[in-house]
Amino acid sequence: MNDIKYLVRKNILSLVPYSCARDEFSGEDVILLDANENPFGNLNRYPDPLHKALKKEISLLKGVAEENIFLGNGSDEAIDLLYRIFCIPGKDQVLSFTPTYGMYNVSSAINDIEMITVPLDENFDIPEDFDFEVTGNFSLKMILLCSPNNPTGNTLSKEKIITILEKFKGIVVIDEAYIDFSCEPSFISMLEKYPNLVVMQTFSKAWGLAAARVGMAFAGQEIISLMNKIKYPYNISTINQQAVLNVLKEKEAVSDIITCLKVMRDDMISRLNEVKCVKKVYPSEANFLLVNVTDANRIYEQLAAQKIIVRNRSSVVRDSLRITIGTAEENNLVIEALQKF
Ligand code: PMP
Repeated sequence: MNDIKYLVRKNILSLVPYSCARDEFSGEDVILLDANENPFGNLNRYPDPLHKALKKEISLLKGVAEENIFLGNGSDEAIDLLYRIFCIPGKDQVLSFTPTYGMYNVSSAINDIEMITVPLDENFDIPEDFDFEVTGNFSLKMILLCSPNNPTGNTLSKEKIITILEKFKGIVVIDEAYIDFSCEPSFISMLEKYPNLVVMQTFSKAWGLAAARVGMAFAGQEIISLMNKIKYPYNISTINQQAVLNVLKEKEAVSDIITCLKVMRDDMISRLNEVKCVKKVYPSEANFLLVNVTDANRIYEQLAAQKIIVRNRSSVVRDSLRITIGTAEENNLVIEALQKF
């Protein structure tokens, strides 16, 4: 499948995007009187709408050409834009494997798109008996995969993802927000083979920049152009673009932190397994652990009363808490608190 145009909403294909005079020139030392900015101040100019400096660095880091990179206000923006490009409200459908990241459902609801949910199997993987024929349904426009998955922490089977990529004629999104904590490689290397593939990553997790709200999507040029066409022109502030440029100069320090968090994750698994109220710690390739406990609602409330905030995921996995790996001190405190139950 080389042409994704037939999947795109007609109004998006014919849309004339907002254009600014600065799209039309490149160069320095020019007099900027085109955008009604204030000539005085430090943050008086609009940011670069195409994040060129940032994309250049990300391109080097990921080995992906700049025209295959979209940058958004968090990867949440990328998810929403994909809905708006490909899914006709009140008509189309999207499929996800549950339990998974809650924002997919929210974006579906906002865009009035029916979400088909397929339960993951007992290992939180794509089920063996998943009906791949569903991929022939013309109203089904996107399949959303999250690997490593939130809240379960595991990666999905590579072979099954590839089968979906081979069979499905719509858009396959793989959300790799936690990929830096995993031993599995990214699907970025498969972008050329599958023009319908979108891989999402973020600076919010391993890079420690959740406050800056910068997410990445990698895909074929056609999809990236459509995302750029409909995004808000100045979707990432100059301050946040600069924050990412700064952290990209600290790659070694970031890599050390990732190694440290992975060691602490393994240590937490062993320690949690010794705690009486813990029935099971699910394997994790992310920076959090899904933990099955004796009475999640009560434990969650009592931890919160001690100002220890974890995520109660009992509505999606029975009696489960999702615990993020914190500092050594924070990890000690949560273990001590759990030992009292
Ligand atoms: N995808 C997953 C799986 C997540 O867990 C999260 C954040 N919790 C996001 C995306 C959102 O990332 P961002 O901060 O880049 O919007």
